[in-house]
Amino acid sequence: MSLDLHWDTRELHTAQPFGIARWTHSVYPRTFVTLSHEGLTGQGEAAPNAFYGETRGTVEAVLPLLAGALTDPWDWDGLNAALSARMPHDHPSVKCALEMAALDWCARSAGVPVWRLLGLSPLALPESSYTVSLAPLDEMRTQARDAVARGHGVLKVKLGTPDDEAILEALREEAPDVALRVDANAAWTRAQAKRLLGVLEAARVELVEQPLASGDLEGHAELRVRAGVPIVADESLHHVSDVVALARAFDGVNLKLAKLGGPLQALRALRLARAHGLQVMMGCMIESSLGIAAAAHLAGLCDWADLDGALLLADDPYAGLQWTAGQLARPQSAGWGVTLR
Ligand SMILES: [Mg+2]
Repeated sequence: MSLDLHWDTRELHTAQPFGIARWTHSVYPRTFVTLSHEGLTGQGEAAPNAFYGETRGTVEAVLPLLAGALTDPWDWDGLNAALSARMPHDHPSVKCALEMAALDWCARSAGVPVWRLLGLSPLALPESSYTVSLAPLDEMRTQARDAVARGHGVLKVKLGTPDDEAILEALREEAPDVALRVDANAAWTRAQAKRLLGVLEAARVELVEQPLASGDLEGHAELRVRAGVPIVADESLHHVSDVVALARAFDGVNLKLAKLGGPLQALRALRLARAHGLQVMMGCMIESSLGIAAAAHLAGLCDWADLDGALLLADDPYAGLQWTAGQLARPQSAGWGVTLR
């Protein structure tokens, strides 16, 4: 029986405007791919990010060109080879959506969660961080206070402003007992980062994500030697083939399915990172519980989880993930374990 693919873009909205060093947005168009075959369906999500060259427009333009690469949901290597042959290194969120749909279909056909289909050990997920996004200082204080009141034990603070020291001090005062992580989103200069190292240590920051520009591996390598906290690559990691070079400049890497081209590509990056002595974070974009669920299937293999993308949404179209504050339970039902509301 032939295989049918269709897709549909929905605008998802964050409950509050979500701000990082580069931008602030409230509307996030996400394209959902459905694979129908032999009476079963599989689903995937494309969460494009402009930093990696993708928009709603590129996703909708490229999906018809890449959809033909998915001819057999069980042939995962064949799918990856066909996608890479058509668009090497580009359009990772589209590739992610197609790979997700294939894996969901296979796992539903086998009646198991995807993590079991892939033979991954059933390890507990690390507690996910909850993001305090960039906003006027009073609003950042409120975000942190509300998150702590809801039971979150790990906060990730977006920085990359001239006032970072004041923000960090204020949030530490607001949330003295949480694990605090910092994400500068590539916005610091080398000099700024060096000046802030003492502030980060005084605030007992657990790790710093992407302090410097994505191409500045030398700067990160220098900073890492001086820093008392792990330095984790996010924007510097675009593709599985970047991992080995990053091991010289960073302590860890943030893996996101949408930028790496899907769950199996993220798993390759994860194993490569481990082989080169890197620590590993499972991260996400602002995306629905479908995309978050896919990341959750791999998160038990990671040191850190940052999977709050769907918690920030006002209109998550998928349901089924079990959260207790920042602690996500490993999905137990077939496929990704979520359903359209
Ligand atoms: Mg980041």
